[in-house]
Amino acid sequence: MIRTRFAPSPTGYLHLGHAFSAMECQRVADEVLLRFEDIDFTRVREEYYEAIIEDLAWLGLEFSEESWRQLDRMETYKKALDDLITRKLAYPCFCTRKDISQHAIDAPHGSQGSIYSGRCRSLHAQEVEAKLAQGIPYAWRLDSQKAHAEVGELTFHDTRLGKVEVNPTLLGDVVIARKDIQTSYHIAVVVDDAAQGITHIVRGEDLLESTHVHRLLQELWSYPEPTYYHHPLVVDEQGKRLAKRHQALALRELRVHGVTAAEVKELASASLQI
Ligand code: GLU
Repeated sequence: MIRTRFAPSPTGYLHLGHAFSAMECQRVADEVLLRFEDIDFTRVREEYYEAIIEDLAWLGLEFSEESWRQLDRMETYKKALDDLITRKLAYPCFCTRKDISQHAIDAPHGSQGSIYSGRCRSLHAQEVEAKLAQGIPYAWRLDSQKAHAEVGELTFHDTRLGKVEVNPTLLGDVVIARKDIQTSYHIAVVVDDAAQGITHIVRGEDLLESTHVHRLLQELWSYPEPTYYHHPLVVDEQGKRLAKRHQALALRELRVHGVTAAEVKELASASLQI
């Protein structure tokens, strides 16, 4: 039995890209759960949860079980983080945005942009104590090399892309608990996918790089390995992926203009990035 989840963030209205993702979930799975990825409480608004439920119902999509809100599960994510801290697989990072950009290093081949230099990884215990005593805010980062040494070589299977070798340092020492929200997408999604018995993860290919981090975390916690399907992204006429600025392609906006749910499905499939 294939069990997946659609996991929107209630920080805006659903657009054509979300519709495609949710439809792909329904197409490939026997069971689809709805999960609100709302850990970034600074951007979440109650009206977006309601709008998402309404838009999905309008599209004719049905979900198994009660939807989860990640904000209800912060204690569980904290335990997962504490485990990594206890195992010395995470370290506090006191860097400001400016420090991070000044010391950034080029991302390894296959990734875009730059990654964190690992500057705070080498802080001595006394330095850490002193910074904590001064009340300097900090995030927690995954020690990706150490995590890699612990779990060894990994792969994942993507039904569209085939077998992918995990590059544990692709995103560097990622933040696993943000300064302001004490957890991260990476921890919350990995913990919840395991807790909900998700066998297949269907999501946009913009999240492909994150999967390298997720596989590491899954192995560190001895979670089962899900199968992946990173689908192509819906893009606008200029070939740009959809974002908040594409308000005109929000499902509710299309609906107001008389577009039907069936037309949304066609439109989304016709606007994929090739
Ligand atoms: N919250 C993510 C999004 O809205 C989905 C993350 C996931 O499926 O893992 O794109």
